[in-house]
Amino acid sequence: MNECLFCRIAAGEIPSTKVYEDEKFYSFMDINPQAKVHALIIPKKHYADMAELSAADAALAGEMLKKACLVAEKLGLKNGFRLITNTGADARQSVRHTHIHILGGEELSERMG
Ligand code: 5GP
Ligand code: ZN
Repeated sequence: MNECLFCRIAAGEIPSTKVYEDEKFYSFMDINPQAKVHALIIPKKHYADMAELSAADAALAGEMLKKACLVAEKLGLKNGFRLITNTGADARQSVRHTHIHILGGEELSERMG
């Protein structure tokens, strides 16, 4: 069985609130929101982090950014949004299946780190 939490979420083995899905990506609401609206988007194929994904498949990484913007639009974030992708220990990446955070729905903090 796949031990990766986000692989299991993408496969529907662990429930999540789906926002968007296509053949390559899955997007769902974050379980512990850090803003009024907080979603995540992941590639269905497992890559540990954005460094690994972009090195292996830059086109997929680019497509993921495009889909993150589409999800922001679907979520009604007309006034702006923030995309964050924590990569590695110093960034405190806690789930080692790459994901982009999509944050908005309110004016976000000036600080990013
Ligand atoms: P990271 O710290 O790796 O950048 O972000 C991981 C994110 O995944 C966190 O914002 C956390 O709240 C979210 N998360 C962790 N476990 C689950 C889960 O089981 N379901 C959902 N929907 N989000 C999760
Ligand atoms: Zn995974």
